[in-house]
Amino acid sequence: MAEETIFSKIIRKEIPADVVYQDDLVTAFRDINPRAPSHILIVPNVLIPTINDVTEADEAALGRMVTVAKKLAAEEGIADDGYRLIMNCNTHGGQEVYHIHMHLVGGKPLGPMLLG
Ligand code: AMP
Repeated sequence: MAEETIFSKIIRKEIPADVVYQDDLVTAFRDINPRAPSHILIVPNVLIPTINDVTEADEAALGRMVTVAKKLAAEEGIADDGYRLIMNCNTHGGQEVYHIHMHLVGGKPLGPMLLG
């Protein structure tokens, strides 16, 4: 069994977070250390430690993460100017929390590809 992270506690509402969306498959909340005017994390409700652990059984949640990103980008008012979706994997990818998450980042020109 993979070890739970703080994100599981946020999903279960056991610790405070600025949750902006939740349904049966995913939860979205504002990043505690925003790197842009809009910085939201979208996570599956089930614990998947890294992208390397994803299976076909997770496809519904992963698809939902993208449709929720689109919806939240529109709500944040950043859809037309544009934004970036980022998923980091393991140490070289800069992953810090081992519960997969998609960063929705926008609200300013983001420059070159990498999130510094
Ligand atoms: P990553 O480097 O892709 O694993 O990103 C992890 C992200 O989680 C970072 O941007 C952190 O700022 C964010 N983070 C860590 N703890 C919390 C928390 N309790 N609430 C919201 N965001 C968090």
